[in-house]
Amino acid sequence: RIVYCAGQFVPEEKAHVGLFDRGFLFGDGVYEVTAVIGGRLIDNDLHLARFKRSLAELAIPLPASLEAIEEVQQTLIARNGLVEGTVYLQATRGEADRDFLYPEGLVPTFVAFTQARQLVATKAQKEGIAVALAPDPRWARRDIKTVMLLGQVLAKREAKASGFADVWLTQEGQITEGASSTAYIVTSDGKILTRGNSPVILPGCTRQALLKLCERHGLMIEERSFSPAEAEAAAEAFQTSASSLVTPVVRIGETVIGNGKPGLLTRALQSYYLEAAGVIEAT
Ligand code: PLP
Repeated sequence: RIVYCAGQFVPEEKAHVGLFDRGFLFGDGVYEVTAVIGGRLIDNDLHLARFKRSLAELAIPLPASLEAIEEVQQTLIARNGLVEGTVYLQATRGEADRDFLYPEGLVPTFVAFTQARQLVATKAQKEGIAVALAPDPRWARRDIKTVMLLGQVLAKREAKASGFADVWLTQEGQITEGASSTAYIVTSDGKILTRGNSPVILPGCTRQALLKLCERHGLMIEERSFSPAEAEAAAEAFQTSASSLVTPVVRIGETVIGNGKPGLLTRALQSYYLEAAGVIEAT
């Protein structure tokens, strides 16, 4: 695999980041993941805009123009012959002797790589998944897509050990979001609920694209938080992310959602999303 590191396209064995990189020592950096389907970047403008915003929130300079970053992404897709998978971007504050405070003028470390994987018509998308519920262990600025992901790593590991595919996180009696996805439920009267954007969750790019599609298709949306009890009583549930697209949730904890199969509205949303991405034809 060819990766991008230190301003060059190199084989992955040749790519190295320094010991004193603040991404490594402090988690002082941000990342993005964009889906690639049929060799094309999906919703990439939204991901690049969020990358820019995350960096600005941390006062890390943008390592290159968004056009130049997209060129890196496109070059990696071409050179690796990526048809389906993801492109990962990461920028850290850069290298400096270890201290919480950092000197002025650091040059951000910018890396990017591709990962080939199935994104469309996965088993999880076709059959739905079971998610655990667990207290949200993360810091207070989840709207910034930082590489500090230990909360998610531990929550996902515990969920997996208990036999769940993923985990939805809770705080103050409400679901915040999935460990690496946006959470949604569909009420018995057909309304789609998802939490409004705030520092409590990451503003999902797939969420933004999907809510626009919901409006276009005349579906009812309410942006508000919901409790685990509401989720367990929901007609349907699903989650979205760049790497999982629209994935039905058919069990939350020990509670089966609906009839235990992906819901009708969820399946329609899967199609709308793939149509908008140009993957399938509109029916
Ligand atoms: N929330 C969290 C915590 C995430 O890590 C992710 C994606 O990784 C999402 C939501 C979904 O965001 P997106 O749709 O932009 O991939």
